[in-house]
Amino acid sequence: MLGWSELAERVAGTTRTSEKTSLLAGYLALLPPAELRVAATFLAGRPFAEVDQRSVGLGWATIAAVVSHLAAAPAGALGEAYDRSSDLGQAVADVLSLRCEAPDPDLYPTLKEVSEAFAAVESAAGSAAKGAVFAALLERCDAAIAKYVVKILTGELRIGLREGLLEAAIAQAFDQPQAAVSMAAMLTGDTGETAVLASEVRLNEARLRLMHPIKFMLASPSEDAAAIISRLGPTVWVEDKYDGIRAQLHRRGSEVRLYSRDLHDVSDQFPEIVEAARPLDWDGILDGEILAYADGHVLPFLALQARLGRKGPTAAVQSEIPVVYVAFDLLAIGPRSPGPDGSHIGQGSVAGNGTTATAVSPLLGAALAERRQRLEALSLPAAEEGSRFALSHLVTASSVEELDRVFTEARARRNEGLMVKDPHSFYSPGRRGLGWLKMKRALATLDCVVVGVELGHGKRHGVLSDYTFAVRDEVAGRLVTIGKAYTGLTDAEIAEMTTWFEARTVRQLGRFRQVEPLVVVEVAFDVIQRSTRHQSGFALRFPRIVALRTDKSPNEIDTLANVERLYRELQHGAEYLVTSGARQSRKRPLETT
Ligand code: AMP
Repeated sequence: MLGWSELAERVAGTTRTSEKTSLLAGYLALLPPAELRVAATFLAGRPFAEVDQRSVGLGWATIAAVVSHLAAAPAGALGEAYDRSSDLGQAVADVLSLRCEAPDPDLYPTLKEVSEAFAAVESAAGSAAKGAVFAALLERCDAAIAKYVVKILTGELRIGLREGLLEAAIAQAFDQPQAAVSMAAMLTGDTGETAVLASEVRLNEARLRLMHPIKFMLASPSEDAAAIISRLGPTVWVEDKYDGIRAQLHRRGSEVRLYSRDLHDVSDQFPEIVEAARPLDWDGILDGEILAYADGHVLPFLALQARLGRKGPTAAVQSEIPVVYVAFDLLAIGPRSPGPDGSHIGQGSVAGNGTTATAVSPLLGAALAERRQRLEALSLPAAEEGSRFALSHLVTASSVEELDRVFTEARARRNEGLMVKDPHSFYSPGRRGLGWLKMKRALATLDCVVVGVELGHGKRHGVLSDYTFAVRDEVAGRLVTIGKAYTGLTDAEIAEMTTWFEARTVRQLGRFRQVEPLVVVEVAFDVIQRSTRHQSGFALRFPRIVALRTDKSPNEIDTLANVERLYRELQHGAEYLVTSGARQSRKRPLETT
């Protein structure tokens, strides 16, 4: 682990991409396979492979207690060190460097030992047991190694290493084409495995595997219909943008699994969708969105929220908040099976990890038009007929006016906005490309006054970039907080505002500064909800600062009464569409053209 940490330090120490790549390639080329797997996984900034469902589960409090104990430092030492760097790994190193006696270099853990310790922390039950395993590991690390152990553990490596750069280094180390490395990484979801395949010149053996989630294709934001048409047009594919949770559905015989955007298995949270997929007659992978849906209409995200994180929901919860799976893409497909158990599908070659690989063909390299056609050919039973499935609402648009109209219609169906897709685009896992553009104009904006500011994290550490803002409660005659957001300001503006806020700090509480309420900001958001988190009794979902309103004075900000009115209007709209929707003649929300 010492060699790995030194390498990470050198990679962090240069901004030159070519130098980072050759440092990494030189290091990786010399490692034996077992170490190569771990080293590459750690360089991807994670304790386990991307597809691995495990998470170490070590909280700040446990880390702080272990570190204070080892360094015989006061309980708040880690917090203070963190305030200086906003980097937990660095803060741990700072505190551990206070130890009277440094550990014996002969006892420094190897890469394999660190990897085993991560697995042991994960499987230990309870924070005390986890803390004990973690303490035994940290005890053997000097401050520099501990810094990187913690960075990997918390997934915050921050050495200026993008995924593409690591793939380029793996390619260079073993003299393989970078495209083949990227493809293998995408299919396996495992950088360690990819590095080993590259070193053994076996990248072509990487296969997409059922029950191994792949990264999701992402969309770039765009709110300008004209720009969208000129970029993807003349004719674009337009789907409703559903406000639920993204999920990949894998099916092999009667085995069905759902994976969330962070590649975690969430099957237990939505057993009714899993059950509904069992009798289908194909093996493959769908991409789609899980939505709360009742009486023919989409329910607000707030309804779905009550289902999140709840494993094995009771029958009562399932009927109170029914869910459907809206499929919008097909990522892999095997031959149709006549029997419900699909047992004859897939010749059953055994993959490297011991699981049976089923013969499904990946469709990632096929155009969206073809993927959609094959998705429709699956004839998923429709939600309107009481099934748990639906296809995304899809239309085409060729002009700005058409796109604007479809946007309004999507909003009337209580969906967030639109997903505009290029029918020729391939499915690019993990990439936020221009093949998909999302259009979800803010519902409304509120003018608020900044009452508190806080130091940011990462790139924004050392500057006051997190703003807490308030509206005016005219009845009580005071300002009441309603949310907190990062600014959308430029670095220069943030620096300027930092100086300004420092001069107008009323009170300092740790990282937080209460400031004079003088700066007006315009805040966009997606939903207003009741909440006890802020003094106003409301919270905004996805608040973002769209502008510093230097043209407005704090007397002109929105009032709590305005917020209440907006809340009622939005609430009323949602209820109206949910309860009276069945009687409306409007197109059904999920239907396709
Ligand atoms: P955002 O979460 O705002 O970055 O928007 C991207 C998300 O929109 C995706 O990750 C999906 O969860 C979601 N989404 C909703 N409807 C669609 C759709 N029709 N196609 C693709 N993604 C969709």
